[in-house]
Amino acid sequence: MNNASAAPAPARDRAPGRVWLITGASSGFGRAIAEAALAAGDTVVATARRPDVLEDLVAAHPDRAVAVQLDVTDTARIAAVVADTVLWYGRIDVVVNNAGMGLVGAVEETSDRELRELMDLHFFGPAALVRAVLPHMRRAGSGAVVQMSSMGGRFTFPGVGGYSATKFALEGLSEALAAEVAPHGIKVLIVEPGSFRTGFAGGGALRRSPALPAYEQTVGPVRTGLPDSDGKQEGDPDRAAAAILTALAAEDTPLRLPLGNDATDGVLASLESSRDEVLAWEKVSRGTGFNG
Ligand code: NDP
Repeated sequence: MNNASAAPAPARDRAPGRVWLITGASSGFGRAIAEAALAAGDTVVATARRPDVLEDLVAAHPDRAVAVQLDVTDTARIAAVVADTVLWYGRIDVVVNNAGMGLVGAVEETSDRELRELMDLHFFGPAALVRAVLPHMRRAGSGAVVQMSSMGGRFTFPGVGGYSATKFALEGLSEALAAEVAPHGIKVLIVEPGSFRTGFAGGGALRRSPALPAYEQTVGPVRTGLPDSDGKQEGDPDRAAAAILTALAAEDTPLRLPLGNDATDGVLASLESSRDEVLAWEKVSRGTGFNG
């Protein structure tokens, strides 16, 4: 395979610690998770669209880190990256579907193309990666799948409907997946960060659909607020990475892990209002059987 860094010497079943395969490791959470795994003594296959940006990481851990080129929307290449990882290290213990980007726009402002491209990135790519790693994890009888969702994968608000749709899709797939693979000794952890200081809200990472004046009041504040938050977000990606490692190490790894005060408060409020709504309409809901 054509990697930016040289392939490691084959070390079948001799890789130190757990073997991680991480997407979007060039910055933000992906990079922080890679660093945390390496600090824990594990082996990391860090993938990125431009793996040269990971040169320092590989140079610091030449025996346990390798950078591999992967655009997660290139689903054909995903299988090759998984095959190479297994060839080099004999197994994959943890896969992290992390690569992603933001999209702001009212539903009416968001194009079909924007929706499809984000689904490719946040749903079809991760689904392909999960399909590729599962046979190896099932054979090993162990493994963990980490899905970087968002608090926007649990509840949503004006301006992020398209983004949330992709994360809701990922969460739906992952919830079913968790129940399917638990008997094979495989864990699924859905991570739901709030606002964290990564590259997410800055520069080219955030897409904004062309604005319609009709949505100035509802979507306008998000359209300006999200980029304005860049560099000022409360969340620390290194602490997020540590929390992910803690959750994975637990006997009872949660299916979903909100991260940050905003995500925790938002998820709790959303659960409460969902419950209130179901209870308020319970009689109508229950009265729809043939027997009333
Ligand atoms: P960053 O912008 O710092 O990192 C995003 C990463 O995804 C980059 O490495 C980027 O690579 C990569 N990426 C984007 N498109 C592709 C692609 N097609 N193939 C491979 N890699 C790609 O942001 P975060 O670290 O915050 O984002 C990571 C995840 O966290 C995302 O899934 C995001 O939705 C989620 N998240 C982030 C939140 C936050 O506040 N930061 C909140 C909730 C969820 P490149 O360098 O090539 O652009």
